[in-house]
This record gives sequence, C-alpha cells and structure tokens, in this order.
Amino acid sequence: MAKRDYYEILGVKPNASDAEIKKAFRQFALRHHPDRNPDDAEAERLFKEGAEAYEVLSDPSRRTQYDQFGHREGHPLGGGFGGQGFEFHSNVDDLFGEIFGDIFGQRRSRGPRAERGADLRYNLNLEFTEAVFGATREVEIPARRTCTECGGSGARPGTEPVTCTHCGGHGRVRLQQGFFSVERECGSCGGAGRVAQDPCPRCRGRGVAQVTRSLSLQIPPGVETGTRLRVAGEGEGGTHGGRPGDLYVVLGVAEHPLFTRHGQDLVCEVPVTMVQAALGGEIEVPTLEDRAKVRIPPGTQHGTVLTLRGQGVPRGKGGRRGDQKVVVQVEIPRKLSSRQAELLREFEDLHEQAEESLVGRFWDKVRGALGRFVTVPG
Ligand SMILES: [Zn+2]
Ligand SMILES: [Zn+2]
Repeated sequence: MAKRDYYEILGVKPNASDAEIKKAFRQFALRHHPDRNPDDAEAERLFKEGAEAYEVLSDPSRRTQYDQFGHREGHPLGGGFGGQGFEFHSNVDDLFGEIFGDIFGQRRSRGPRAERGADLRYNLNLEFTEAVFGATREVEIPARRTCTECGGSGARPGTEPVTCTHCGGHGRVRLQQGFFSVERECGSCGGAGRVAQDPCPRCRGRGVAQVTRSLSLQIPPGVETGTRLRVAGEGEGGTHGGRPGDLYVVLGVAEHPLFTRHGQDLVCEVPVTMVQAALGGEIEVPTLEDRAKVRIPPGTQHGTVLTLRGQGVPRGKGGRRGDQKVVVQVEIPRKLSSRQAELLREFEDLHEQAEESLVGRFWDKVRGALGRFVTVPG
C-alpha cells in the first residue's frame, strides 16, 4: 500500500506552520489514541500513521527533506517506528509527553525525575514492662541519605555540576520499543540531568552516602511483638529532590517470668495450698508495678480466675488499662507425714458423708447413664 501524504494524514496544508501542525497532531492523537479505542486495529493503524507524520513534519530538517523527496524507506524514522531501542530527543518527545500526560490524566514531569527514598526496617527488642508502659529508646540508624558534604549535588564543595550532554539535562531518555516509546533513566548522569566534573570525595559523585543518624524513639504504651511504628521521613534519602522514605520500627517484646499478655490483660498464675483453697482467705499476688492483696473465696477450685481491675496493659497513651487475671493453681501436697495422712483420711471419712461433692455427683450420673453395666466403687 502506498504511503499517504503526511500533510493529508494530519489534515493540514503543506504550508502549515509548526504551531498548526502541532495543534493538528494533538487533536489527532487525542481522537485516535489506542487507549481511547481499545481493540480497534484500524484506530491503532491510523494513530501510528499520524504519529509518524508528526514525527517527520515537526522536525524542520526532516520536513524539508520530506518536502523535497517524499517518503524515503529505510530511514530509521522516515520508514516508520521500526527502530528498536532507538534513542531520540526532539520536540516530538516533549509533545508526546504532553499528550500522553493529558490522556493518562497526569503531566509528565520535565527534567530529572524525583524519586522517593526506600523505606527502612529496624528491629527493636523491648523489655516486657517497656512494652506495657511505653518507653523512650535511643537508636542509631545507618541509611543511604543525601550526602552532607555536597548537599546531594555530587560535585566537590565549591564546584558546580554541569548539564549532562547525553540527555540534555532531562535525566531521562526515550527509547522506541516498537511503536510505543519508553522512558528510561539516563545512564550517563544516573537521572540527575547534571554530572559532577569534580566529584565530591565523600560520596564519590553519587550525591548519596551512608549516614548514621541518632533517633529518639517514643514507644507508646501497650505495644506488642510485631507492632510496627512508622517514623516518617527517616528512611533512605530520595534522589533528585525526592522525599525520603519512612522508617518502620518493628518491635519484639521479651517474655516475663511471671506475666503473659492477652490483649490488654495480664495473666499470672498464683499457687495456693489445698487448705487455702478450701478455707478461703487473703493472699498476696505480684502486679507489674508492685503487689496486691486478693481474697480467695472458700471452696476455690483449681483454675479459678480472679480479676484485679485496672492492673493490666494501657490501651495507648493515657488509655484505660486492662485487668490482671490471677489464675489460681491449687497445690496438692506430694509428700505427707504420717500425721498429715492420718488427718486427711479422717477428713475423707467425714467428706464422704457430705451431700454435694463433685465425686458423689459424678457416680450418680454414671449410674443414671449406664446403670447395671458398671460396678460403682465404695
Ligand atoms: Zn557528596
Ligand atoms: Zn544524562
């Protein structure tokens, strides 16, 4: 198929001004862009045709050449967008950016692209009580940050970096990938758009260097293992004026010999003697800050949970505190003197006559359920 005339494609006269051509292509591109016409092969073909036309007509020397000789096959651009990985810098590039920016709802930034620094993770181990009540901890965080010597320019202090000749100071170059062009960071200046002729000795021209900063971390009360604290702006430094990343402090909490955490509650197991459990009384239990007296009701069973209100973990700064749960561990004596054994047997004889024991109730239940099949002891 013979190639159509470039002026005809864009719908402009052969003597159209640069501004008219630009305007015509802009309207053309907005109408025919493949994103506006998904799965429309014809729209795509038209768009490619228009882009090629504009590519040539917007370049004065190539327009003159086209006016004189018409289509020339084999030219890396005149023959279409076939040049894989071809780099070019022209006003086409800029207008493409403008148009694509409009289409995609964002304007392509000119010059070096500011990039946000990476986030950092720091693991911090806390004592149990630090986690419950909060703490202030001083930490040293080494990170790649803007070089303090050159302020990030990469040039030896007192000297100025010069505009990168490879990208013309844009920091980015455009590569043709088939039809679409892809923007890449300029390899010569690393995206900065400027290069240091006399590099900074501290960062060797990179503009970033390892800098260790001391931070005072405020640990709020009530944190747990796995809690992440975000410290905004304390991550790695951004490049080309980009914002720094954030620091995430990931907490680990040491175990306590007496207490375990269940959300806002603290749990501790307290042993009592068999006699204390049976007769009841007052016992003393440890709390995180001090100790407290707890009344044991008569007949307290093993595993009974008693609650000390407001002795638990605060819910954030100034927040209400959870409870302390005291789990009663009834201790059965392992060694008895003969006198103790004698008394217990005597107790048992009396106990059997007692009406409502758990043991008695249990065998009543068994008799009811299985009756004649079991031999009931006693
Ligand atoms: Zn430096
Ligand atoms: Zn460059």
